[in-house]
Amino acid sequence: MPTSTSGAKRKPADRPAAIPGSFMKSLFAGTLPADMVFPYPRLDTDARETLDLVLESFRGWARQRLDGGAIDRAAVFPEAQVRELKDLGMLGLTVPEEYGGAGLSITAYCRLMEEIGHHCAAIATIVGAHLGIGSKGILLYGTEAQKKRWLPGVAKGDPLCAYALTEAGSGSDAASLKTRAVWDDRRQAWIMNGGKRFITNGGHAGLFTVFARTEIAGEDKISAFVVTRDLPGVSTGKEEDKLGLKGSSTTDLYLENVPVPKDNLLGEPGRGFKYAMEILNDGRVSLAAGAVGGAKEMIDRAVEYAKQRRQFGRPIAEFEMIRDKVARMMADTYAAESMVYLTTGLAERGDVDYSIESALCKIFSSENAWRVVNQAVQIAGGNGFIKEYPYERFLRDCRINMIFEGTNEILRLFVSLAGVQTLGEELKKVGRALRAPIAEIGVLSDFAFKKIRQAITDEQFPDIDPLLKPTAVRAAHYAETLSTTAERALRAHGKEIIEREFVQERLSEAAGDLYALIACLSRANTRIREEGAAKARRDVLLTRTFGNAAWRRIHRRLGQVEKNQDANLVRVSDLAYEQGGYGENLIT
Ligand SMILES: Cc1cc2nc3c(=O)[nH]c(=O)nc-3n(C[C@H](O)[C@H](O)[C@H](O)COP(=O)(O)OP(=O)(O)OC[C@H]3O[C@@H](n4cnc5c(N)ncnc54)[C@H](O)[C@@H]3O)c2cc1C
Repeated sequence: MPTSTSGAKRKPADRPAAIPGSFMKSLFAGTLPADMVFPYPRLDTDARETLDLVLESFRGWARQRLDGGAIDRAAVFPEAQVRELKDLGMLGLTVPEEYGGAGLSITAYCRLMEEIGHHCAAIATIVGAHLGIGSKGILLYGTEAQKKRWLPGVAKGDPLCAYALTEAGSGSDAASLKTRAVWDDRRQAWIMNGGKRFITNGGHAGLFTVFARTEIAGEDKISAFVVTRDLPGVSTGKEEDKLGLKGSSTTDLYLENVPVPKDNLLGEPGRGFKYAMEILNDGRVSLAAGAVGGAKEMIDRAVEYAKQRRQFGRPIAEFEMIRDKVARMMADTYAAESMVYLTTGLAERGDVDYSIESALCKIFSSENAWRVVNQAVQIAGGNGFIKEYPYERFLRDCRINMIFEGTNEILRLFVSLAGVQTLGEELKKVGRALRAPIAEIGVLSDFAFKKIRQAITDEQFPDIDPLLKPTAVRAAHYAETLSTTAERALRAHGKEIIEREFVQERLSEAAGDLYALIACLSRANTRIREEGAAKARRDVLLTRTFGNAAWRRIHRRLGQVEKNQDANLVRVSDLAYEQGGYGENLIT
């Protein structure tokens, strides 16, 4: 239970500095730079007006032309709809105006992705693969000449773009990819050989951002290339038959002695893996926005269904077990939405590292969408299982969100290792300042740890409204507990923490709930301050409701870092591996 969070106890000068430009890394390192997340970011009037026009245009078109169910049943790439989206300029929305796009911010883009998510996840995936990840490398790392060459086409959706990182042998372990580009002096080109797997838009893309091994100054390093379909040796495989997203295209990409011109190298040679990961930062937050849209659609449908479906002489909406589901769907989706747009606000500052935050958005929103759709199926009863209704399509479509753009397991590892690494660096700094003999994190002296612990702030959130105070107090308490628990874990395991996935999973889950809670608090508090408590009633209720569930989860997860039955879990999984599965039957 929170005990020490009522007001800042230490002078600002005593606090460890925030990690420049990263909210969550600062949190792991024991400080809470609330000014990075308060007040909640808002679009300015111009941006809001532009976004309203875009949304109006999309909605008008979608009403007439976008039937997600029909696209799913047809199970082919929706050529006509994609052509019409191109004509509406929707495939160039985030391309800067000077290259023919609409220059929309990431916040506005995510809002559109959310809107698309209401209707059709396959279309959201096509747009996301094109704008969010397929062409992003050119925008981020391209030279002026490269931007002038490709972006006007990207803005028109012609060519359609794709992002090609995964290979048959390298999925989660993406850095182990085998596709290779060898420089050929005579042809003044990189000769590329290899194959990519599961490429979204693969069958229809004309431009691929491809990551390949290269030899740079005698070292084997990954570089990023633009590979266009017209190059000799480029081809794609058959369309995969998938569980969901049936209208999206997913194929292999084959690269056989492809002469990639030297001007197609993106950014600095050898920096490709870093680029691949950075591109996914934006991809993940827009994926999360699409998942929020899908969740909202399912809430709308479930509420409508629950109100009209009568059993035992009453609408099922009145039964408490249905209320419980609806309320949790609402509160968790509010949290997911709050995280997404807090993160896009951070991204728009330009000087912020939001890699942990975008990973948390992707994990939280994808799992929320899965839970929400699952509950919507349940509320719809037998009809939830029938294809005539949209629930089963949303269930199939949203499952992939927990797998692609980094599986949620890999992202959990990323979140906790990035957080713990920052904490370790801060601790080392303290050690150096104290002239402690620190060679390894694992041998940090007690004194150094005590010192950093003393410095951990219990600062409150600024200007928090009394309506939100109890929730804010808990958030501040668990911010501190996250850092101190991470510190103890680092102390217990040292460098071996990299192997301790049970621990990492719990730290990242607590971090996700905490970030969601802080996002809700910021949003609700900002609304109270700007529009008054009466207008913010919904925000306060949803923040409190989410907060009550979240702090309990955080408490449990952090407690389990030290008290757990991990040894049993290892034994049972060993048993299953030895037996080749479940093993003995109860009755022969
Ligand atoms: C429909 C679809 C579209 C896709 N689009 C694209 C695209 O456009 N571009 C692209 O490059 N890729 C794309 N992908 C590939 C996708 O990103 C990968 O499938 C994903 O990264 C997982 O890789 P994998 O399938 O090889 O699974 P694996 O890496 O084999 O993982 C299998 C399981 O093991 C877990 N696992 C692996 N390592 C660890 C670990 N260290 N600790 C704990 N658990 C672990 C994983 O989380 C997962 O649950 C797409 C995939 C699909 C299905």
